[in-house]
Amino acid sequence: MLDSKRLFGTNGIRGIVNRELTTEIAIKIGSVIGAFFQHGNLIVGYDARTSSPMLAKAIIAGLNATGCNVLLAGMAPTPALQYAVKNRKTDGAVIITASHNPPKYNGIKVVWNDGIELSRKQEIDIENKFFNEKIRYTEWNNLGTIRDIPGVIDDYIEAIKEHVDSARIEKKGYHVVVDAANSVASLAAPRLLRELGCKVTSINANIDGTFPGRPPEPRPENLEDCALIVKAVGADLGVAYDGDADRSIFVDENGKIYWGDKTFALVEKYFLKRNPSEKIITPVSSSTLIKDIADSYKGEIVWTKVGSITVSQTMKRLKAKLGGEENGGIFYGPHQSVRDGAMATALILNIMATTDKKLSKLLGELPKYFIEKRKVECQNKLKERVLEKLIEQVSRLNINTIDGVKILFKDKSAILIRPSGTEPIYRLYAEAKTESKALQLVQEYTLKLKRIIDSLNN
Ligand code: MG
Repeated sequence: MLDSKRLFGTNGIRGIVNRELTTEIAIKIGSVIGAFFQHGNLIVGYDARTSSPMLAKAIIAGLNATGCNVLLAGMAPTPALQYAVKNRKTDGAVIITASHNPPKYNGIKVVWNDGIELSRKQEIDIENKFFNEKIRYTEWNNLGTIRDIPGVIDDYIEAIKEHVDSARIEKKGYHVVVDAANSVASLAAPRLLRELGCKVTSINANIDGTFPGRPPEPRPENLEDCALIVKAVGADLGVAYDGDADRSIFVDENGKIYWGDKTFALVEKYFLKRNPSEKIITPVSSSTLIKDIADSYKGEIVWTKVGSITVSQTMKRLKAKLGGEENGGIFYGPHQSVRDGAMATALILNIMATTDKKLSKLLGELPKYFIEKRKVECQNKLKERVLEKLIEQVSRLNINTIDGVKILFKDKSAILIRPSGTEPIYRLYAEAKTESKALQLVQEYTLKLKRIIDSLNN
């Protein structure tokens, strides 16, 4: 991460602990973040990774050395820390987490005073300080302080309950299986659900930074246990979170696991029923389903580049109240314009309770699409030219080039072809009303893409 003169990726600073992300570097990063915030008051919190307390201490040293006061929240879900920034009116936060990455990674998210991660422009300011400027430490009598702030998770749970019909959910007495990924979700979600009158069966709920239960990314293939237990105990719902509890993936009462854009579409539908003509913010990687719902319930879709910070920043700029991603991120603006796993869970229960329908029925009522995904290897240095050539070839079709290229066909099928921001690959997402059409599309464009890559390789 340091070779490229760039610290921040699409979701903060990430690296392998004690290789790319060492305590020395963490002190320096803390110092440049401190210089950026200029003697501000910053919340510091972290996820359950084995390296998080160590890195937090190093970052705090850097923050204090440059005159920032630290409000230490300790271990907590990322969205609870983001909520605390707004609620306690601090200048921002530094969150130590690598979200869904494997256990050997850790990372640093920097949050502005609105609870949203910094804009790219602000990140560049920090990067310039890191790579180009001499760090200016403060005098001994002007160092920052450290103060514990208890109650961050209590405030967060109370705030979420304000946005749903708690009495109605309580009356239903739902049984919910929570898969907390052995991380910070276990500190908030089971409590929130019990306070909403649910019976909770928790799995992977002991804090353990080695993630013994399952990998911290809530992909369907990692959630078989959750799905089996929902069926075994006869629960109404299952929910699984990622390592810092901002993403949530849901399982219906039959043990069926859904991708995030399906449950996002459900939240969107009931949001637009009550708030017609609102804007819905979503990356181009989301299913056309999101647009179908917007068309049916008088909403307006705003497509963005892929990345949760872009969704949050766009929501803020357009004063939009709802955003979502296919990976299980739901952004509910009336609470906060960032993805929030516990808030999403409360919204799903609220829809189940107010409609008196099971999750399988609610999701079954949505338009159906079949999805096929592929990866094609492509060297990073070729990515840009490949995209130019591809756009040239499809320019007569109905295309969207916000991020990669998305081709939309009259029969409502679509394919998105975009270079990965982190790996030397192109990703293809095809969707269609039939399985065979989705397969045909993905095969056709995989071939086209390979031909372009080969022609540039020779
Ligand atoms: Mg996350």
